[in-house]
Amino acid sequence: MQKEDFASTAEHLKKVVPLLMKYHVPATPTNYALWYTYVSNTDTPLAKKIDDSIEKSGSLSEKESKKLYETYIEERKTNEIEGFKESIQSLATEISSTMELTLKDTNTFQSTLENTFSQLARVTEEALSMEETLKVVQKAVQGSSAVQESTLFFKNQLADAQKEISRLKESLNKVSEKANQDALTGLFNRGAFDAEIETLCAASNPFCLILCDLDHFKIFNDTYGHLKGDQVLKLTSHRLLKYCQNGIKAFRYGGEEFALLLPNQTLSGGTQVGETIRAGIDKLVIKDKKTGLTLNNISISVGVAQHEKEESAESLIHRTDERLYKAKDLGRNCVVPSPFK
Ligand code: GH3
Ligand code: MG
Ligand code: MG
Repeated sequence: MQKEDFASTAEHLKKVVPLLMKYHVPATPTNYALWYTYVSNTDTPLAKKIDDSIEKSGSLSEKESKKLYETYIEERKTNEIEGFKESIQSLATEISSTMELTLKDTNTFQSTLENTFSQLARVTEEALSMEETLKVVQKAVQGSSAVQESTLFFKNQLADAQKEISRLKESLNKVSEKANQDALTGLFNRGAFDAEIETLCAASNPFCLILCDLDHFKIFNDTYGHLKGDQVLKLTSHRLLKYCQNGIKAFRYGGEEFALLLPNQTLSGGTQVGETIRAGIDKLVIKDKKTGLTLNNISISVGVAQHEKEESAESLIHRTDERLYKAKDLGRNCVVPSPFK
């Protein structure tokens, strides 16, 4: 981390806590992130919104904070959040190691002092008179206990600060987790998918991509309402999570589209997983309490492809998407694997 980056990060961080206290804002991870962004650049639409609210009501309500967080922070690209997290973590690590060094130094300093005093006690029989030497020793011992007291105080202060840093690190991890999550379904979001597929493409191991799309979901929404539709999305996601074993990860790719990344998987294995998922979703049943109707017309179409050596993420997504369209063409509720080029 650059020295000036570190200095400005520390500077921003120092400003956040007093502001939270001043405006009675609870020190939650989201508020930390919100106010950190505010102090980083006070000439942004977010800063203007915060300033307006403070001017009007003298504070920032929980509801407003949540809305601002969702609009200006959560929506930011994951790599910005990651950058933010990294700078804070470097800051925390740097402060922690400085503290460890200081603690070591303090201990050394203390034992050196104690040594000096015991030496001093031995010269009582030599040059100085007994009385004079005793005076010197007495003074030194007084000084020593003062040093010991302040050292102890200093040690406690450092221990408290270290605890605070660990807490801060934990909070930041939570903020970053939230940035990767889709709010409705709890699955990883599109940003997380983009990062993960790039990582897998850069490595040399084989892997598969599965793209699924709910069938005739527009008709479902139109017939049973958007809320019922949301329920289907949540239920489908819940079911997809069941298949997230052996490193498989599920993502909400778009509105009613889902992606799964299967590390170390070949096309035949990936196609089998795709088929298991399709059959699992086909079995989903929703009860409509209002009408007493049982809705079991939920299904997905699935496209599967294996990553080819040196293939870009874009090309793999394109090939898989094309298979998904083919599955729709073939009548939906089926799996179509992509042959190798
Ligand atoms: P197909 O089988 O060809 O995929 O047909 P479809 O109706 O599923 O596809 P289309 O692209 O025409 O419509 C997708 C629908 O998904 C329309 C949109 O309202 C719905 N949708 C997207 N996101 C959400 C959401 O978050 N909640 C709900 N309830 N519906 C959503
Ligand atoms: Mg779709
Ligand atoms: Mg659809």
